[in-house]
Amino acid sequence: MSALDVSIQAQIINLLEQLQKEFSLTYLFIAHDLAVVRHISDRIAVMYLGSIVEVSPAAELYANPLHPYTISLLSAVPIPDPEIERARKPLLLPGDIPSPANPPPACRFHTRCPFIQPTLCREDVPLLRELEPGHLVACHWAEQIKAGEIKPQEIEAVFVEAESVRGWEPPPV
Ligand code: SF4
Repeated sequence: MSALDVSIQAQIINLLEQLQKEFSLTYLFIAHDLAVVRHISDRIAVMYLGSIVEVSPAAELYANPLHPYTISLLSAVPIPDPEIERARKPLLLPGDIPSPANPPPACRFHTRCPFIQPTLCREDVPLLRELEPGHLVACHWAEQIKAGEIKPQEIEAVFVEAESVRGWEPPPV
């Protein structure tokens, strides 16, 4: 879809919507374009490194993101109002995405999370929990982040060495 120009994308989305109404279809739509995702979805699952970190009705997710990764993604969406856009502060993530073949332990997002805490984040896998009806999030600290009790901080990206690299030696010449 991203390889197509915008007008062709719009035509395809309109066609998908038309077919959906006509045949009562359900789609699983995988995309990176947040504007298209918002337009086409009733319910959204956000993934990071192959794990679902948040599930929510579409309007609720955009109005009230709960997972730090979702908060960061949505903070980068441009707003078509120059004054709001100038005042907007995107929540930037440090470093690169780790290898999905060897994801960080416990919370997979902990190596880049601006809300990381000294306990739990590096120790336990956060499970999806329902914080509001139909709105699930996999973060140990989602309630405190939502309440503004935990603020984002500037952090250094953590490099997690891949298992396959440890102990690796070049073959004999
Ligand atoms: S569990 Fe910790 S590291 Fe993971 S998203 Fe929540 S605050 Fe960030």
